Amino acid sequence: MTKLQRVKALSIVFSILVIITSLPASAKLRELSLQLRWEDQFQFAGYYIAKEKGFYQESGLKVTLIPYNINNPSPIDAVLNHQADFAISSSAVAIHRMQSKPVVAVSALMQSSPLVWLTLKKNGYVSPQDIADKPLPTLPGTESAELLTVFRKEGFRLEGLKLITQNARINDLVLGKVAALNAYMSNEPFQLEQSGYEYNLIKPKDYGVNFYSDVLITHEDFAQQHPEIVDKFKQASLKGWHYALSNIEETVNIIKDNYAPDKSLKHLLYEANHLTELIMPELVQLGHMNPDRWKTIANNYIQLGMAGDQPDFSQMDNLMYQKPIKNTRILMHTIIISLFIILILSILAWRFFYLSSMLKREISRRTYAEKKLIKANNELTAQALTDPLTKIYNRRAFFEKGDAILKLSVRKQLNCALIMLDIDHFKDINDTFGHNAGDVALKQITEILAQSIIRSHDILARIGGEEFAILMVDCNIEDAAQVAERILKFMSEHKIILPDESAINVTLSMGLSKVELDLSQALTHADVALYQAKENGRNCYYIFDDRLLNKIAKPQTA
Ligand code: GH3
Ligand code: MG
Ligand code: MG
Repeated sequence: MTKLQRVKALSIVFSILVIITSLPASAKLRELSLQLRWEDQFQFAGYYIAKEKGFYQESGLKVTLIPYNINNPSPIDAVLNHQADFAISSSAVAIHRMQSKPVVAVSALMQSSPLVWLTLKKNGYVSPQDIADKPLPTLPGTESAELLTVFRKEGFRLEGLKLITQNARINDLVLGKVAALNAYMSNEPFQLEQSGYEYNLIKPKDYGVNFYSDVLITHEDFAQQHPEIVDKFKQASLKGWHYALSNIEETVNIIKDNYAPDKSLKHLLYEANHLTELIMPELVQLGHMNPDRWKTIANNYIQLGMAGDQPDFSQMDNLMYQKPIKNTRILMHTIIISLFIILILSILAWRFFYLSSMLKREISRRTYAEKKLIKANNELTAQALTDPLTKIYNRRAFFEKGDAILKLSVRKQLNCALIMLDIDHFKDINDTFGHNAGDVALKQITEILAQSIIRSHDILARIGGEEFAILMVDCNIEDAAQVAERILKFMSEHKIILPDESAINVTLSMGLSKVELDLSQALTHADVALYQAKENGRNCYYIFDDRLLNKIAKPQTA
């Protein structure tokens, strides 16, 4: 592929990407229509600007503005008949609401109606009183409601007025056919001014009559089904109005260029300034509506007899657009579900903590019990291996410990030796001093034996009634003989003190043997040697020897 081909391929891919990414954006735009209440003029500036500056598009909307045409249905009917999604209407929307028509007011642009009684200055008509007895042209239907309310407020009965329903024009005023003209303060006065006439305006708002004007309305069903679209449209429109009122000259030029080429810039500017006075952007939040004001307006329609047969005043509560209950319900459901989830989680957490604390308590209880058991077992084991009278190892312990030591010694090739001891004539002590004295003597003899053993790993055990054994590790028979000597000496040096305080000498006889592989066998050998010691005068030791049993001489007693 050449460089040129690569560039071409890349640009094709790029173009396709641009088309793909731009397609969904335009496809997503929601199409809406807005029915205006008059021909194109500054009165709808905010909507033009929202469209021209792309505020609608930013909100995903594509809005068609429909100027009023005498052959079209009224803006309110356009909305009720679903011919337009939104419309700009007068306060008369309140009448439709009281007739239970499904229409809602989304915002009110003008805080006061632009309708005025227009009079010529030269006639000197400046108040309702000045014109109350003169022929007054009114618009058909309910269109002049605010102008008639001015008379009612000033104490005139409508029946007393000379109302004529004719489409009076400026010329009729100039020619004196009518004393006052039912006019739009942003239009007809300008025309008079252009023709060089001075004029007076009798404004309803100067008499406390404040009908909303240029109310943005939509069908109730649409508002309930598409609240998010209603909100977007309202916000984008108000943004347009904000821009228009902050940039009047630019806005006027845009309207002249794109919407109302027949209107002069001067006229559009005149209209802008007078409508701004009614919109009151400095004082009131753009689009603001007050439910009480709406009710006052509705009352005025009723008083004027313009609210039709049996108006339902309670319907006024449904006039102002509110976010549908559905959303509140969803919010409530969300809150309830969230609370429920929090409750469940709390219960689970509480349960978890309860169980884990129970578990901890159980573990510590069992650990404690286990420790107690181990301690008891150790005590039992110790008891099983200990002689209860002398507290030294018993016969069983002698064999258990002895065998273990012996195995180790064999592995390490260490010599071991055994001394078996028997108290001489012990029966006599029992017989002479009593069995208890014998026990006392046994304990004292044990202490003397324990002192005779120097090395802590030698094993001293009571293996019978008045018989003991000593197993010595890393000890040859000569070393054992030295221990035996020491025992004979110690025994001769210590008197045994009996419970009756008599002090006696006790002697021992011993048999010594090497320990080679078998402890029992060594014990048998030592026993043979011991027998020899007994046989040969006692208070001495014999060493077992296969060939010769050596008797060791008695030590000198004190
Ligand atoms: P010998 O010099 O021949 O060994 O004479 P002996 O009297 O020591 O030997 P004998 O075997 O005839 O008697 C041992 C005595 O030891 C008999 C027994 O009542 C006594 N005896 C054994 N165990 C105990 C004990 O736990 N307490 C007491 N008070 N006497 C015991
Ligand atoms: Mg004995
Ligand atoms: Mg004895």
